[in-house]
Amino acid sequence: MERFSLSGKTALVTGGSRGIGYGIAKAFIEAGARVIIAARSEGPLQEAAASLGANCIGLRCDVSEPAEVAALVERAWQLGPLDILVNNAGISPYYKRAEQVTPEEFDAVVRVNLRGAYFASVEAAQRMFAAGRGGSIINVTSVAGIVPLERQGVYAATKAGLHQLTKVMALEWADRGVRVNAIAPGWVETDLVGALFASRHGERLRADIPLGRLATPDDVAGAAVWLASDAASYVTGSIVVIDGGRQLR
Ligand code: NAP
Repeated sequence: MERFSLSGKTALVTGGSRGIGYGIAKAFIEAGARVIIAARSEGPLQEAAASLGANCIGLRCDVSEPAEVAALVERAWQLGPLDILVNNAGISPYYKRAEQVTPEEFDAVVRVNLRGAYFASVEAAQRMFAAGRGGSIINVTSVAGIVPLERQGVYAATKAGLHQLTKVMALEWADRGVRVNAIAPGWVETDLVGALFASRHGERLRADIPLGRLATPDDVAGAAVWLASDAASYVTGSIVVIDGGRQLR
């Protein structure tokens, strides 16, 4: 089990103040890592960091702004050096058919989900190359990037894009020991989907999950610990689906 330990490693988790990111940060700390969590809202971020104890600190960042992402990775590295980056920050602000989406809404989702993860990966990987100790980058994507879900077109496209980026970056960076993988969750009980599941669509969406329930952040966190650890040292370019069987339908 020693190979699953994250003892001595430092991780940066974007969107770590609640939901899946918080669950991953908590599991990393339990596995022995020091963790930096990042999000936009300072108050909830610092509360989350405090609740995770002495091995966690919160740094404010909006990942849709490349300059803020560069500053975040720089500051995190001073506490590091980083061994693990989890690109988890993501938004799904509407549930609309393609013809209802405005250009502004389209851009907002792309800027966080795709551009944010892209530049955070580049910033972290360049420092990982220079440090010469490898690294593990994990992109939190979605089963929506694999199976078509109605009213999720832009979100789905960003997650499908992130799947291909995962593979391209894994190929480009393998020779420098930086592994890049993705975790594609199905529906997870978080603020992101609370309103949707409370709406008239909720019952139908729940009925589509073969295991009959939504995931919890803990259901997702175990795979993140594995991908971050030496137990996954031969795993790169993979997409780990954690969806209660949703993609089978
Ligand atoms: P959530 O509960 O809404 O949490 C999102 C986190 O990201 C928060 O910490 C939020 O904090 C942060 N965040 C949002 N925009 C940000 C930005 N521009 N810069 C920095 N931080 C930002 O969402 P979640 O359900 O845990 O989702 C996490 C990831 O899992 C997302 O990538 C999502 O697409 C993916 N996912 C979720 C589900 C699901 O069913 N919940 C399913 C598949 C995939 P602030 O608001 O303070 O910034």
